[in-house]
Amino acid sequence: MKLSYNQATCMQRSSVKNDILLCEKHGYDLIELRLDMLKEYLQTNTLQDLSKLFNSLHIKPFALNSIENINFNTKQSWAELVDLFKFACEVAQAIQNPYIVIVPTVTEERSKYNEKEVFDDSVESISSLLEIARPYGVKLSLEPIGDRRWVCNSMRQAYEIVQHMDDEDLGLTIDAFNVYLADKCADIEFLNEIDLKKIFIYHIDDCEDLPLGILDHCHRLMPGDGIIPLTRFSQILKEKGYTDGASIELFRPEYWEQDPEVIIKMGAEKAKPYL
Ligand code: ZN
Repeated sequence: MKLSYNQATCMQRSSVKNDILLCEKHGYDLIELRLDMLKEYLQTNTLQDLSKLFNSLHIKPFALNSIENINFNTKQSWAELVDLFKFACEVAQAIQNPYIVIVPTVTEERSKYNEKEVFDDSVESISSLLEIARPYGVKLSLEPIGDRRWVCNSMRQAYEIVQHMDDEDLGLTIDAFNVYLADKCADIEFLNEIDLKKIFIYHIDDCEDLPLGILDHCHRLMPGDGIIPLTRFSQILKEKGYTDGASIELFRPEYWEQDPEVIIKMGAEKAKPYL
């Protein structure tokens, strides 16, 4: 697998250019850029600058993060989402970035939508997004989020949507932390049943040993520092023949306080044994 970095990991103290250069220096192959950080970058740079930068380096764009709350939108929230999505498509096309990560809707408390409602709504909204994305040549990668505040939580639930839609431009992001957050990885072997062609992105994250209900994204840890069975995740993916990016994607405030170079270097060292 290729070593990849997701900008969430140092987002409070870094920038698009800084992350790209530090990741290049520390041996990463791919990077997932954040849309909010890209907007900041584009205040003083152009997409052509970004494209030139990537052309001059080994590291390449992997995915843009993320289009969130894709379900149960109002007319207005959908219009805003599509605006951001079109921006992401333009960036993706300009820098030859293959994937945009799309994320189910988060609710205030435990989601009250049943699976059928989520399935039907997801099919409808993802179909619209795929139509918009098609001319830009960018693919969509659906990432289930384990916590029950989100409307789509498991690999199985997300894969049912992806399988039903049967579109070569639609696949899955498998985030080890989100799989753990859903059921402490009780259903990890389901990964064996997912068609390799439908696995677009792997987020290789570890986390603290906390009960479900307390465990949250701020408890993510460097690979190997926590209790997620990352060896098993990587083993299944390798057996399937997955050779694309494994991204460290950590939303840990403690990491945000540190020098991005320290974290990026550490991420490369911690992730490498699992590639
Ligand atoms: Zn993720």
